Amino acid sequence: MSIFQIAIDGPSGSGKSTLAKGVSKALGIMYLDTGAMYRTCGLSAIKKGIDPSDVDAVTDMLKSMSLEVKFVDGEQHMILDGEDVNGFIRTPEVSMAASKISALPVIRKAMVDYQREISKSESFVLDGRDIGSNVLPNAKYKFFLTASAETRAERRLLELNGRGDYSQNYEEVLRDIIQRDKQDSERAAAPLVKVDDAVEIDTSKITIEETLNTLLSYVKE
Ligand code: C5P
Repeated sequence: MSIFQIAIDGPSGSGKSTLAKGVSKALGIMYLDTGAMYRTCGLSAIKKGIDPSDVDAVTDMLKSMSLEVKFVDGEQHMILDGEDVNGFIRTPEVSMAASKISALPVIRKAMVDYQREISKSESFVLDGRDIGSNVLPNAKYKFFLTASAETRAERRLLELNGRGDYSQNYEEVLRDIIQRDKQDSERAAAPLVKVDDAVEIDTSKITIEETLNTLLSYVKE
């Protein structure tokens, strides 16, 4: 069977990672969560006390930083300077640092090169903001997920609480989502955009199962 890639893009909380996992399982292909890579860069800046928007400091940081994506039984692990940081990259603080650091072209180039390298040898579903537009413009299937900011904030809050994180209330989660949307779509380097050849799916009013079935129906055609 030939190798193919599926790109799933959209704003935070649109359901990308849940769907990408579902697609990966249904089709027996690998899943690469590219947001986790930017989150790991954000975490590195926090750990080193660097402002994630400071291009000189971040450029220096990148020279000495070791970031590795490892797959263990198909599950992605982020290794930062030799340490598995999967348990540390989902906090609201890291989300905001990731959004800021990912606007820097020097970071984007390093991550995009690595994403292309990882996904070229096997079939992959990738989720992110710029997969269909920039990382893999020739991906066989492209999807763009949307949902209202309020729906996405509700989902994010449930996800945080599900992990025992009660550091933010609904208003704060919503405020962060709106700020990240703005940063992600207004930045100069590879902003969040829907490309013409992507299938747009609004996940606000349909369940994850329905969205997954819709998506799979395109892939199986
Ligand atoms: O998808 P997730 O919320 O984990 O992504 C964290 C941040 O990383 C996003 O807010 C976005 O700024 C950035 N990102 C990106 N390009 C990607 C994936 C994520 O800029 N392909």
